[in-house]
Amino acid sequence: MHDVVIVGSGPTGLMLAGELKLAGVDAAVLERRDTQDLAGSRGGGIHSRTIELLDQRGIAGRFLAEGKTVQTATFGSTQLDLSGLPTRHPYTLALFQNHIERLLLEWVEELGVRISRGAEVTGVAADDDGVDVQRASGGPVRGRYVVGADGGRSEVRRSAGIAFTGPDATRSSLIAEVKAAGEPEQQGKVDARGVHGLYPMGDGTVRVVVTEAVLGPATEPTLEDLRRELVEVFGTDFGVHSPTWLSRFTDATRQAGAYRKGRILLAGDAAHVHSPTGGLGIGLGLQDAVNLGWKLGQVVRGIAGEELLDTYHAERHPAGARALQYTMAQSLFQKADPRQEALRDLLDEVLRVDGAGTPIAALVTGLDVAYGHGMPGHPVPAHPLLGRRMPDLDLATAGGPVRVFELLHQARPVLLKFGGPALDLGAWAGRVRHVAATYDGAWQLPVLGTVAAPTAVVVRPDGYVAWVGEGSAGGLGEALATWFGAGAG
Ligand SMILES: Cc1cc2nc3c(=O)[nH]c(=O)nc-3n(C[C@H](O)[C@H](O)[C@H](O)COP(=O)(O)OP(=O)(O)OC[C@H]3O[C@@H](n4cnc5c(N)ncnc54)[C@H](O)[C@@H]3O)c2cc1C
Repeated sequence: MHDVVIVGSGPTGLMLAGELKLAGVDAAVLERRDTQDLAGSRGGGIHSRTIELLDQRGIAGRFLAEGKTVQTATFGSTQLDLSGLPTRHPYTLALFQNHIERLLLEWVEELGVRISRGAEVTGVAADDDGVDVQRASGGPVRGRYVVGADGGRSEVRRSAGIAFTGPDATRSSLIAEVKAAGEPEQQGKVDARGVHGLYPMGDGTVRVVVTEAVLGPATEPTLEDLRRELVEVFGTDFGVHSPTWLSRFTDATRQAGAYRKGRILLAGDAAHVHSPTGGLGIGLGLQDAVNLGWKLGQVVRGIAGEELLDTYHAERHPAGARALQYTMAQSLFQKADPRQEALRDLLDEVLRVDGAGTPIAALVTGLDVAYGHGMPGHPVPAHPLLGRRMPDLDLATAGGPVRVFELLHQARPVLLKFGGPALDLGAWAGRVRHVAATYDGAWQLPVLGTVAAPTAVVVRPDGYVAWVGEGSAGGLGEALATWFGAGAG
């Protein structure tokens, strides 16, 4: 029996496999694709918090080296300036999903992750001790836990009977990568149907998006469908031919009612789907994976109890719901309609007031995520750092200068002590790294601005703050027990 079976090696499954490996767990990864190659380029990029997660593992540079950074995000028609956000990565990275998957695969292979390809999962059946994962060919694979990272049409979710609810699609778009006659220029258009665009990829192919006149069926579109819609919108089909990718997406928005059902967990698109507008999908999946990996690792290794897995849903479900709010609102604006345009223009006035756009910029970039639930042992009101991402400060330590994120490369929890009384990690000393450091700068958090400097913090492997010391050790033991097992060495 495997400790964990991950179904799907998209961005979410790959990231989770890497995180589990760092947590000391070998997961079996079952993927139906024969290779990692995608038929098309698919998703277009990642935002600040996702780049930070990669930075926390020491691999952000690989992604930054291959893409282009853009310092704005859009809400309505307003370009929100990201440059003032307190992060080392105040930008969006434009990099197509096929490259993101290639780079993630490279990383997990270095860690020793192996993927079973050509393995189509057809269902899951859980009992008290584990889960049987059925395959289209070959016998079942058994795992103590199973994570469905198998995309929006998740077989794991369906088979586990987990509800997936939300507003139905109102619009559909065809997306394709095709050859075209001549060399059409990059162009975009918004009309009463929605947004349309052509984007030459630089290798002789053109990425085309065209919103359909009526909501399309749940079947795969044809080249004829694409030609017809292009003629209707642009007056020409640009001589498109030889598609390497032709697909349909909608603005349907759904979220799983439970991210955990006993031994079955969901992550990424399997847990939430939404309009691709805003480009939040890949990042949400990676954030799910980084939240779940260290928790599941500890539970599987007997360090922490099962209840730790409930914090995965408690933390990631609200974060997902908030991101879906943005994609639903933003997709409304992607249409020429006098009433929506009136709303968009008034919103633009509001967002242009100094600093007014910052909360939305922090939402889009994922920098505003605050895990407010289940943070124990803290006086009320809690320090604002609690449950928020730890900033990547430049620290001075006895061993020399170090960035906070460098201390997270191995995905181990860290106690950072800046002053105050002596702190005893007790039974956790073997697992929680203790670093004495100094930092003289301001503690700046997205949206909140400067906050009081703590005397110590415990940072979880996912980079979120589990405990804040304010001149005493109060609550430290309780926080360690909650997040890192009840004292087992
Ligand atoms: C047309 C389109 C445009 C998009 N544009 C953007 C964008 O600009 N920016 C952005 O961030 N996101 C975008 N997205 C969303 C993004 O692609 C997804 O959010 C992202 O791929 C989710 O990653 P995932 O790993 O959770 O799921 P997926 O990428 O769907 O991966 C699921 C994996 O599971 C495998 N699998 C599925 N079923 C089974 C099974 N039964 N057995 C075994 N393996 C299985 C699949 O082969 C796949 O490898 C777009 C999506 C689409 C469809």
